[in-house]
Amino acid sequence: MHPQRWGDPAAATDLPESARGLVELAFGLQDRPAVTDARPPESAIAEALLDGLRSIVGDAHVLLDDETRILRTRGKSTPDLLRARAGDLDDAPDAVVRPDGHDEVAAVLAWAAEHRVAVVPFGGGTCVTGGLAARRDGFAGLVSLDLVRMKRLLALDEVSMTATLEPGLRGPEAEALLGEHGLTLGHYPQSFEHASIGGFAATRSSGQSSAGYGRFDAMVVGLTAATPTGSLDLGSSPANAAGPDLRQLLLGSEGAFGVITSVTVRVRRAPTETAYDGWRWPSFDAGSDAMRTLAQSGLLPTVVRLSDETETAINLADPSSIGGTDDPGCLMVTGYEGTADQVAARRAAVTAVLAGLGGTPLGTGPGDAWVQGRFHAPYLRDSLLDHGVLVETLETATFWSHRSRLYADVKAALASSLGEGSLVLCHVSHVYETGCSLYFTVAARQGDDPVAQWRVAKAAASDAMIAAGATITHHHAVGTDHKPWFAREIGEVGVRVLRAVKAELDPAGILNPGVLVP
Ligand SMILES: Cc1cc2nc3c(=O)[nH]c(=O)nc-3n(C[C@H](O)[C@H](O)[C@H](O)COP(=O)(O)OP(=O)(O)OC[C@H]3O[C@@H](n4cnc5c(N)ncnc54)[C@H](O)[C@@H]3O)c2cc1C
Repeated sequence: MHPQRWGDPAAATDLPESARGLVELAFGLQDRPAVTDARPPESAIAEALLDGLRSIVGDAHVLLDDETRILRTRGKSTPDLLRARAGDLDDAPDAVVRPDGHDEVAAVLAWAAEHRVAVVPFGGGTCVTGGLAARRDGFAGLVSLDLVRMKRLLALDEVSMTATLEPGLRGPEAEALLGEHGLTLGHYPQSFEHASIGGFAATRSSGQSSAGYGRFDAMVVGLTAATPTGSLDLGSSPANAAGPDLRQLLLGSEGAFGVITSVTVRVRRAPTETAYDGWRWPSFDAGSDAMRTLAQSGLLPTVVRLSDETETAINLADPSSIGGTDDPGCLMVTGYEGTADQVAARRAAVTAVLAGLGGTPLGTGPGDAWVQGRFHAPYLRDSLLDHGVLVETLETATFWSHRSRLYADVKAALASSLGEGSLVLCHVSHVYETGCSLYFTVAARQGDDPVAQWRVAKAAASDAMIAAGATITHHHAVGTDHKPWFAREIGEVGVRVLRAVKAELDPAGILNPGVLVP
């Protein structure tokens, strides 16, 4: 993916005509063309050093050309896109190395530790927290370790229902391999089409069907990882009491402790039936309470999400179509996957609960529309950036009893920081028996320095999250952007533990320097 935009260039679209007028009214249309001829700085790595790398992976898999380096520059947060659009490619790696298999990864790490070269593991490049922008001061260079050649289904156990996948598989590639056996992983983050299995594990990703299939880290039963001081092969049984669970040290480790070279995941039979429904709620509180009731009665659908009043209104071309009133209230989408019998039974049970709690059924239209458009929003972000609108998202999670305060505080922090005319939208994106995650989207007119404009708003929102006792991230991970708040969240002892793990597994500090560990 190009660092200036999301996804497949062929799928890019300009602002739809229907939205143009609204955007002009709300923010004024500006013309913000991207710099198209920017080149990365010269590769700073000594040519002689690279011979060692070539002897490990082969000449063809050590790449120094500008195009390859540009495509591995940073991730896909709005600041990442804005900086690339302004022609700033300073974080481009000096070289890109493409190992094939665990042993080659381990050998690359040994080479890097010996020569003090920083290594940034690269999966799909969809990171939104600065996890691909490692520090390079004090290093002989920085290489992007691209896992693109590691795309195999290594093992399948259809009795235990587990599959061992290599980290470079993108979401659709993994689903296609499993689909040949009538299986699915069921992990569908919005970045599904481009993010990788290794990235899902390294960031503890959560997909849109998490209510039914669980978060990615909950699917992982085992993994292998290469570190500069040796290899780890973890997960020898479905559950155990053999001390602390070391898999959890690698899940969410964002390339700072090791490179995940395979994951063994729990798989499910691919659904034969799917159904999506829309529900209207008179308020965000009423809809959230209904979600809590579902979660605490063990009656969750596969997908359940709830937009607040603003997000509901913005997402609807014709708000009055919802529930036949001028007030669209809050839209909830429920989705069901499984066999026909499973879908029918769960849908009937959920429908009875939601109707009993005062929800208004809206039929399948809103749910089907959500499914159709679920991977499209990032393209819309590009066209809004083209027209001078600042759009970005952030997320957090808390217990049910704190949800209302967290929602109010983060919303207020974003709105007051971004100023009059800005929009703050929110939805409940993932639910648990004990709480939920809140996912915010903001839109504002871009000022002269939109990166700084966003940094101020994001800091205000992050302060509000920590002050409310919530987490700095439910599924986007820490990267470099969240580090100060992450340190506050885990406390001084927590920071020391992470530093000790880093010192043990990566004593030379070559793995993703500056990422994750405060
Ligand atoms: C438009 C958009 C929508 C998104 N939607 C969601 C969503 O719904 N849910 C969600 O959870 N996230 C979402 N994200 C965030 C992102 O897609 C996830 O964090 C994803 O898991 C990253 O996977 P990746 O393969 O792209 O990893 P990368 O971006 O390549 O890497 C992420 C981090 O993990 C490290 N890493 C990558 N592979 C490995 C490996 N094999 N071993 C060790 N370290 C590794 C990298 O060094 C980096 O620090 C979204 C992002 C965007 C841009």
